[in-house]
Amino acid sequence: MNELFYQDAYLKEFDAKVISCTACKNGFDVVLEDTAFYPEGGGQPFDIGTLNDVEVFDVQRDKQDVIHHYVKEAVDIGKVVHGVIDWNRRFDCMQNHSGEHIISGLIHKHFGYENVGFHMGEVIQIDISGPLNWDQLMMIEREANDIIYQNIPVQITYPNNDELENIPYRSKKELQGKVRIVTIENADICACCGTHVKNTGEIGLIKILSFMKHKDGIRFDLVSGKRALEYMRKEHDACKEVSCLLSAKPLEIHIATKKLLDNNLNLLNEKKQCMQKLLEMKLETYTQGKEYVIDFEEGLDRVSLMTYANALLEEKKIPTVCVFNKQENGYMYIILSKKINLQEYVKQLNTELSGRGGGKKEVIQGSFQSDAETIENVLVKTLPF
Ligand SMILES: [Zn+2]
Repeated sequence: MNELFYQDAYLKEFDAKVISCTACKNGFDVVLEDTAFYPEGGGQPFDIGTLNDVEVFDVQRDKQDVIHHYVKEAVDIGKVVHGVIDWNRRFDCMQNHSGEHIISGLIHKHFGYENVGFHMGEVIQIDISGPLNWDQLMMIEREANDIIYQNIPVQITYPNNDELENIPYRSKKELQGKVRIVTIENADICACCGTHVKNTGEIGLIKILSFMKHKDGIRFDLVSGKRALEYMRKEHDACKEVSCLLSAKPLEIHIATKKLLDNNLNLLNEKKQCMQKLLEMKLETYTQGKEYVIDFEEGLDRVSLMTYANALLEEKKIPTVCVFNKQENGYMYIILSKKINLQEYVKQLNTELSGRGGGKKEVIQGSFQSDAETIENVLVKTLPF
């Protein structure tokens, strides 16, 4: 079988004789005399496309090195079919695979770390064997884009064993048989079975998106080529929208956002103080001697609600205190009592008021999905105030 993608990575269409076509899960498994369809391998996804207008949805290489095309409909054995590669997808893979080589190669050149994991998904994910910080990654990114501007040829060679011994190439595993070496001068020499662009200029752009610590090294996300441009465009659109919303220049939205968040925090603090004052004033209106209090509030957090409930119980000597704060679909509740064993009633209250929560003998808390009037009626009916 001739693997046409190795002879010419830019071959978009080809004709080949069908050697076999057998029914399989989801369609048919087709083997051709020659193929330009790249099978999944070396971290690079398989090609998709058509054979005589029949969709090719998967391409895999088996252990005997036979390439299988998985298609939706059967094709005639012995006949010649016309294959068309989904070129957008393939060229995107080439841009991103070559971009990955430059980045991994430069990291290896400057820091001696190995690429220990490579996955081409929506973004390209790379695991590196040693630690790098963001500034170091940006230094690598700058140099990688310089390699693009220099439009350096991407050379594919098949050196013999003697020659290989003298080539300082990167490789993830022990290689047997003919070794394919991909060389990008000043950036990388790597054993690889994938498809690559002819010259680095075709990659267009390399952008590292984010990184995190991973094992003894780091894991980072990368995009190259048209995909990088699309990504940056979406990010820019999002920035522009935020910029309009905040009336800030696009490059200053982080400063404006920080100001907004600070402002928000201040407002929340002010609100908290106001609520506290309001509750103190409310507390003053309660006279001692009441058997119970049922009070519905709004805009309180659990801590303020508990402080308020405790003040009613301890300072105003009210034996049973039921306080509520409005929330989505009902109320948050805190019920305190020095008189009633609340644990005996919590299950019944939760059942009748579509609630959840629990607690101890003296305190129960949770939420009821019910309105204030129903809650009050059920409480008065259930609890022996
Ligand atoms: Zn590769």
